[in-house]
Amino acid sequence: MSWHYTASHMHHRAIKHCRQCGTAVHSRIPDDGDTRERAVCPACGTIHYINPLLVVGTVPYLGDQVLLCKRAIEPRYGKWTLPAGFMEMDEAMDEGAARETAEEAGAEVDIGPLFSTLSVPRVGQVHVFYLARLRHDRFNPGTESLEACLFDEAGIPWDEIAFPTVRETLRRFFDDRRRGSFGLHDLRIG
Ligand code: ZN
Repeated sequence: MSWHYTASHMHHRAIKHCRQCGTAVHSRIPDDGDTRERAVCPACGTIHYINPLLVVGTVPYLGDQVLLCKRAIEPRYGKWTLPAGFMEMDEAMDEGAARETAEEAGAEVDIGPLFSTLSVPRVGQVHVFYLARLRHDRFNPGTESLEACLFDEAGIPWDEIAFPTVRETLRRFFDDRRRGSFGLHDLRIG
C-alpha cells in the first residue's frame, strides 16, 4: 500500500461516530488532564486518540544509481518516488520497508542501515528510509507503479519527485555518497 500524505484523515474531527457504540461524538478536551481536543463519545465515554502514522521505505541503490518508481496512483500520479508505504501491524520497520520495495518495484534488495527519519507534522506522519543494496538490475513494478528506473544524480527528475521527504532523502543520499560515508539524517519537513 502506498501512502496518502494528506492531513484530512488525521484530524479528530474526521471521526464522526464512536468506534465502540456508534453514537455521534463530541470534539472536546477530556477531563483527565489532557490538553488537546479529542473525539469523545457522550454515551460510553470512549476517547478516540489520533496519532501519527509511520511510513517505511528504502533507498534502493546499485553503484551510483538509485531506483525510483513512477506512481500509477493518485495523489501525484506520474511523479517519481522511492518505494514506501504505511507500516503494517505485524512487522518491524525494516520488514515493512522490504515489503514495500518488493510490492512497488519488484526489486530484490539487501536492507542496510537506517538512513533518514523525517517528521511531517502537518500531515501527522513520520517517514523512515533504509539504505537497500539492489541484488541486480531486474525489476517488476507492481500495480502502484507505471515503471521503475535507475537514475544517477544528474539524471534524477528533481522537478518530478512526488514528495518532499523523498526529495530530501535523495539529496542526502547523493551528498553522503560524494563524501564517501553514509550518516543517519533526522529531519523535519514543514
Ligand atoms: Zn460510545
